[in-house]
Amino acid sequence: MHPGLWREIWILAGIAVASLFFGALTGRPFLIAAFGFGFYIAWTLRYLRLLHRWLLDRRAGDIPEAGGLWGEVFDEIRKLVKQASRRQDQLSGMLTRFQKAASAMPDAVVVLSQDDDIEWANRSAAKLLGIRYPRDVGVRLPNLMREPDFADYLQRGEYAETLEITSPEYRDVHVSIQITPFGSSQKLVIGRDVTRITRLEQMRRHFVANVSHELRTPLTVLGGYVETLRQMDEIKMKDLKKHLDIMHEQSGRMQRLVADLLTLSKLETAAPPAQDETVDVTKLLESLKEQAELLSGEQRHRITVETDHSLGLHGSREELTSAFSNLINNAVRYTPAGGAIRLIWHAVGDNAEFTVSDTGEGIAARHIPYLTERFYRVDTARSRASGGTGLGLSIVKHVLLRHDAKLEIESEVGRGSTFRCIFPEHRVMRS
Ligand code: ADP
Repeated sequence: MHPGLWREIWILAGIAVASLFFGALTGRPFLIAAFGFGFYIAWTLRYLRLLHRWLLDRRAGDIPEAGGLWGEVFDEIRKLVKQASRRQDQLSGMLTRFQKAASAMPDAVVVLSQDDDIEWANRSAAKLLGIRYPRDVGVRLPNLMREPDFADYLQRGEYAETLEITSPEYRDVHVSIQITPFGSSQKLVIGRDVTRITRLEQMRRHFVANVSHELRTPLTVLGGYVETLRQMDEIKMKDLKKHLDIMHEQSGRMQRLVADLLTLSKLETAAPPAQDETVDVTKLLESLKEQAELLSGEQRHRITVETDHSLGLHGSREELTSAFSNLINNAVRYTPAGGAIRLIWHAVGDNAEFTVSDTGEGIAARHIPYLTERFYRVDTARSRASGGTGLGLSIVKHVLLRHDAKLEIESEVGRGSTFRCIFPEHRVMRS
């Protein structure tokens, strides 16, 4: 038996013996015993009252001191309370850390009660789902997120699949929602910003549709001519030549398209151009001028080159040739016969600029921001008639990006255009 308990038994036995002794002396043993045990009960009740009072208002202070077996009971309770408060501190520390981590998450996190009332939400929930904590605590989530698709999803109770919605706060933000039930029918709503992925997916779909469309026309023409030739029993040489010319033109168009697509894909996937290769821009422009004169042919554009011989470029010769020739070819193709085309390579401050100016048809201001998008053309028929694929300026943009350079376009309808490639100081070599 516990020593404390033995002591209490000894006290009770002592009271009994003392009562018997004094009872024998006074002739009132019961009265003496009643006093003795009454005193013991009062002493015990005092500690019981202290304990009761402390239990009712624990915040008022520490558990009181006591003697005897009660003292031991109080000591044990004190230990338990200390342990519990330590565990509580640990738990609340963990909860605070968890809330801080969840608050800092880029994904929206919302905790819902059994009745779909908002209990807690992190910061991202405001931007992605329009839910603000603590303002919206206690509000039913379907009252804030009123999209019918979302209400269905929440009610259905099957959350294996995610749901995509647009953010109620910003219409151009796409959010993928996933609900996870936990505890006693509570729910955790997680919203992830998928705007970039959605946009990429859209771009991919447009791109495939555009490429298919671009290939379909020449393929249809080619197929038509092959079929016609197959059905002819005899054919005059003159007609055959005419047919073959058209077939040649269409296959050339497909070849140019595939070549441009391959160039673009290489630019997107290849490692950045080495800095140690040096391109002699003056020499490059002289050879591109010759090619442009060939392309101009009978149209006899006046093509001039003004270059600073002392300036070179660190970068890929192949890529820069592709970008510059695209700009020069465009100038030839979109400038009427006899027009002037100026190719300028010079230093501007610490930078160096390659500029192509023409006196061609020009471009309306509203088209300029979109010119470097794939397959964007101001006049599709005009572009195709001159052998365009709609990818030239996309290639230019990619090459310049890979050389830390930027493209500036100025144009005026009916007066001409200027395409400026600006290379930063670290790409420029001065001799
Ligand atoms: P394309 O193969 O159609 O020329 P690009 O990407 O090279 O494709 O150019 C996109 C569009 O920009 C062209 O279709 C054309 O409308 C316009 N453009 C490009 N360069 C010029 C220029 N020098 N003058 C007028 N329009 C131009």
